[in-house]
Amino acid sequence: MNSNSKRTGSLISIQDSLVKARFFENVIMGETAEILVEGKFLQAEVLQVASDPKNAKAGIVEMQVFEDLTGAKIGDLVVFKGKALSVLLGPGLLTSIWDGLQNALYPLSEQDSYLKPGMKAPALDEEKLWDFTPSVKPGDSVCGGQVIGSVPEGRFDHKILVPFDFGKCKVHTIIESSRVNITQTVALVIDEHGKEHELKLVFSHPVKSPIPFMQRSIPNKTISTGVRVIDLLAPVAYGGTVGNPGPFGAGKTVMQHTLCKYALADIIIMAACGERAGEAVEVFKDFAELADPSTGESLMNRMCIFGNTSSMPVAAREASVFIALTVGEYYRYQGYNVILLADSTSRWAQALRERSGRQGDIPGPEAFPMDIPDQIKGMYQRAGADTASGGSLTFIGTVSPAGGNFQEPVTQATMDSTGGFWGLSQDRADAKKYPAIDPLVYTNSVYDSFISKEDREQIVKTLQEANDIDQTISTIGLKKVPVEKYVLYQKGQTIDFCVLQQDAFHELDACTRPERLQIINKAVQKLIETPIHFSNGEGEDEELKEQIKTEFDRLRLWWKDWNSNAKSETELASLPEQIEHFVLQEQYA
Ligand code: ADP
Ligand code: MG
Repeated sequence: MNSNSKRTGSLISIQDSLVKARFFENVIMGETAEILVEGKFLQAEVLQVASDPKNAKAGIVEMQVFEDLTGAKIGDLVVFKGKALSVLLGPGLLTSIWDGLQNALYPLSEQDSYLKPGMKAPALDEEKLWDFTPSVKPGDSVCGGQVIGSVPEGRFDHKILVPFDFGKCKVHTIIESSRVNITQTVALVIDEHGKEHELKLVFSHPVKSPIPFMQRSIPNKTISTGVRVIDLLAPVAYGGTVGNPGPFGAGKTVMQHTLCKYALADIIIMAACGERAGEAVEVFKDFAELADPSTGESLMNRMCIFGNTSSMPVAAREASVFIALTVGEYYRYQGYNVILLADSTSRWAQALRERSGRQGDIPGPEAFPMDIPDQIKGMYQRAGADTASGGSLTFIGTVSPAGGNFQEPVTQATMDSTGGFWGLSQDRADAKKYPAIDPLVYTNSVYDSFISKEDREQIVKTLQEANDIDQTISTIGLKKVPVEKYVLYQKGQTIDFCVLQQDAFHELDACTRPERLQIINKAVQKLIETPIHFSNGEGEDEELKEQIKTEFDRLRLWWKDWNSNAKSETELASLPEQIEHFVLQEQYA
């Protein structure tokens, strides 16, 4: 793309975030442009280039504008930038909070307490000094993606890379170890055509061109998320993908926050996409103050947040997810385990729907673009594990189907694209059974659990049987249910209540690590596999069932208490002991 001569155009039509402009030079699909509206430059992206039926020398571009177009008029100036929508990569990404276009939000809020169109702030702090240590010397050959040095970024070693689109180059000069900011040149390299390029600590990368894998591999190492129902029954591996659909209020956002705090990863990226503004503001405030449970440092030291709330222009949602993915790939390339949390991908898909509607595309199911499944697949495919770098990018996206209808296109396409699926159920949320992941409906995972496949199947089978008995009880009544079945039902209830349900806000209960999970699983398996003999002599079945319920209630209370208190080795060991006594129906503490 020729970026030397200034290429311009002028607006000829404005339709919400979609505009058309006439131009006379060469314009390229996907390049960015700025539209001058009332003295401010608004960011836009070229979607389509066509010839002008009215003027053989001109062309017409169709563009989507990422910012509010209030005040735009026919004839307004368009400046083409010769560059695809890009993200700035380099030290300082962590701890940052941006809007959907990587404008840093804190500096913006210093300009004005409300976001206004055209407001811009540097994506990364331009003044902060970083301790750069070079790792190549003059005369060395380097190419795109190669490391030329590093800076410490908090507790991370941030590698300084040659931009990915560079071919083979020779290092001409490189600075000695020193403190530099991101605007300073650290190295000069010369390409094969003899052209000089200045390298800095940062470079920009087009967000729709995935950063390559060094060596892509199948995700096979389970992540400890701390959430029992996930780690037992619907696990996710480093580099894996998960769709997390649920109706409004079922707990998708709480789940994302829980994962932010407890999922074992080096880096967490949040893309708050189109959700309520108040919620996003809360996150920003909370997370700045929260301590990372694994290090005691501020949680933000390993995080960055893209906040693109419902009050911001819809078109920017599309950009924000791609920007977040690219940042994730960048850290994966450096060898870090990254988890990207996107809330909600449905809002992202709505942005695509609005755009394709305005462009007059032939609509697919529910007016989404025909290629929505491919677009969703393409997004999740950018996640993955990399054995050569040792890093991974895990992508967990919430889906918010209208009315909780999982048959709609975005939920269905997500199910087809992801290795794991956590379906939140309205019924469970209504009953305050949190997290509301329903292990029997739409929940599955291709990844290995912390427990064996057989144990996992045993648990699901027991829950399924208990659920069936529950149905029977509510249709034909408890009386018709045999005692052994009732015991099975109580076992299922116990697993659900004491293991699957977990208090996201309780200090100890909120997070269960694998060692503790193993103890719990042992207890659960013992409970499942041992026939328990309850007896009341010659008494009625109904009385016996009452007695069984009482016994199980006692066990459940004891177990809940264990969840919130057991810490020491002896306390931990008390669970299997308790179950041992219980299944023998011995007197227990
Ligand atoms: P969604 O994002 O799906 O619309 P939220 O995550 O905002 O739903 O959850 C709605 C409410 O449900 C929360 O404000 C909280 O009160 C409750 N809730 C959800 N998940 C949990 C949980 N794991 N533990 C306790 N309360 C929860
Ligand atoms: Mg939410």
